[in-house]
Amino acid sequence: WRSDEVIDRYVPTHCCYCGVQCGMYLKVARGRVVGVEPREDFPLNHGMLCPKGSTAYQTVHHPDRLTSPLMRRHGKNSPLEPASWDEALDTIARRFQTLQAEHGGDCVSVFSGSSMTNEKCYIMGKFARVALGTRHCDYNGRLCMSSATGANERSLGIDRAANPISDMLHADCIFVIGANVGECFPIITSYLWQARDRGCKLIVADPRQTPIARTADIYLPLRSGTDSALLNGMLHVILKEGLVDEKFLRERTVGWEETKALIEQYPPEGVARVCGLKPEAIIEAARLYGRAQAALTYTARGLEHQSKGVDNGVAAMNLALATGNFGRPGAGCGTLTGQGNGQGGREVGQKATQLPGCRDIENPEDREYISSVWDIDEKELPHAGYPATLMIPAMLRQEIRACFMVCTNPMVSLPDQHTVERALRGLDLFVVADFFLSETAELADIVLPGTVWAEDEGTTTSLEGRVIKYNKAVEPPGEAKRDWEIVCELAQRLGKGQYFNFTSPRQIFDEYRLCTKGAKSDYWGITYEKIEEQNGVFWPCPTEEHLGTPRLYEERFGFPDGKARLHPIPYIPPAEEPDAEYPLVLTTGRVIYHYLSGNQTRRTPFLKEQAPFPWVEMHEQTAQRLEIGDGDWVTVRTRRGEMTAPALVIRSIRPDTLFIPYHYGHTEAVNQLTNPVLEPMMKIPEYKVCAASVARAAEK
Ligand code: SF4
Repeated sequence: WRSDEVIDRYVPTHCCYCGVQCGMYLKVARGRVVGVEPREDFPLNHGMLCPKGSTAYQTVHHPDRLTSPLMRRHGKNSPLEPASWDEALDTIARRFQTLQAEHGGDCVSVFSGSSMTNEKCYIMGKFARVALGTRHCDYNGRLCMSSATGANERSLGIDRAANPISDMLHADCIFVIGANVGECFPIITSYLWQARDRGCKLIVADPRQTPIARTADIYLPLRSGTDSALLNGMLHVILKEGLVDEKFLRERTVGWEETKALIEQYPPEGVARVCGLKPEAIIEAARLYGRAQAALTYTARGLEHQSKGVDNGVAAMNLALATGNFGRPGAGCGTLTGQGNGQGGREVGQKATQLPGCRDIENPEDREYISSVWDIDEKELPHAGYPATLMIPAMLRQEIRACFMVCTNPMVSLPDQHTVERALRGLDLFVVADFFLSETAELADIVLPGTVWAEDEGTTTSLEGRVIKYNKAVEPPGEAKRDWEIVCELAQRLGKGQYFNFTSPRQIFDEYRLCTKGAKSDYWGITYEKIEEQNGVFWPCPTEEHLGTPRLYEERFGFPDGKARLHPIPYIPPAEEPDAEYPLVLTTGRVIYHYLSGNQTRRTPFLKEQAPFPWVEMHEQTAQRLEIGDGDWVTVRTRRGEMTAPALVIRSIRPDTLFIPYHYGHTEAVNQLTNPVLEPMMKIPEYKVCAASVARAAEK
């Protein structure tokens, strides 16, 4: 881009990265996207963008873009070679059909991503169930925010953040537990600071003193994996000091008596020992939260990426419910969704147990309704299949023999990478659609070139529950195709083209709206025009006259009786605790410069320059004890493997904890080390806690 370049068009759209979905203009000159400008008129970011958003346009014309299909023509060890679309799609369809004829329909699986639009995510679920007739369809949100879904469904009955982000400005107290807001959702930080300027207090609980934790009124450096103990301990203090909202509990909830009986067993002294905190700090935090007129709680992956992730989320809801903090401005509880369409992607029916509109794939009425929209016999609609994390062992058992993977990179993002690689390499047919040759696409038998967000229109749903719309700025490069077009063409070849006669994202969205009609996540009243007129529409929005619902639970929760559920949550330790061989806790997370598996941001020059490789954060006491200096190469070991990276010696982490960012692949992937143990309800892995050792690296 030249500074004297004449911009032909400013295309209003949104950032393709995190769940905040900031409004931006793509600047188009000579048919190319040459820059971005933040949108002042979008009510969330008000003219701000973070480093990722400011550089997002650099992936559009990147030289690494895939521009034609690639195939291995002579077996697994032959190179990927360019192929025509006809050859690639004919081969995929023929081989899927052959495998299904030999091994049954469920031997093929679909694994998709949540960074795509609602339209693309929706069509993936329909493709799996209708075109392939397989029950094994899931998405990468399984690895991301599925614990939050489980907690929302158990406690509130609706899987969406309770409040718009602007509610922060009405809160007296904001409690952030397990969310690195400053790095993962940078624009939200401005709401925190505005709230604090108005007198709002901030409590942050995190094993690392993240940027927002440094300025918190109370910072609780809890031991990784002890979140539910802390939340129970805070509720214990609130109960003992008479700060519980009895009227709210009586009129709007069930389950308090059982929960209260358990909470009695969590005095702050005992909780402090479990969490590695001072009892006074727990008491002080509880008082601050309990005395607030309106308190907001925000959680994210720190609390959710655990084998007790759902329990942790429920414990956070218990605290908010017991203090009457729902249904009012500045009062609520919500998860900060990391993926761009993490909210929408978990509603559209690409999940193992779900039909579109958050409908239950085992519910007879939901099955009947969706079958009627899709014009199929309900008996043909598959039942629930494996979640993504259980597809891997099913591949190793050869129960799943083929996989169609779209816009996700599990060779960076799944735990216990060596096992994942074995599973993917062992497939009879592995097909990946993506716009870059990711670490996962490198293993595929056939790679299909997809498009980026600037090359198509479609909707996403932000972490607030606000449905927004991307607009097309440029054509795809070379022969790359939009993912929904790829799916429709493949369905045609599988003999199911009549169910996939879509010629635009708008048509797909209209079918999706119909699927959601009358459901909890009702999009029926949301149209492309209305999204543009209102700058986004919050669901539920049941009619075209309805303006949408920014704040949930003002009168009713999502259960038939309208009441929320409290559940007693006993603290259960993480699956793997430190011992003599692995005396430290390893935790993982994001940095401000990278997004998810880094497939895009590691190709963006400025972002790559800022964080070119992973590092191992450790406290200076730990470093001194082990004679490790800042910048020394160290080897971290767990029961799954080892990796070597430079040490970053700091004071802003617990001395018993190591941290490694997860955005890197191959030998730099921290997920070589993480524990694949799963949360029992939602099957999310325990990325945030495993036992580890560290020592100065021998060879560097
Ligand atoms: Fe993009 Fe999120 Fe940054 Fe906004 S905060 S610019 S949506 S990455």
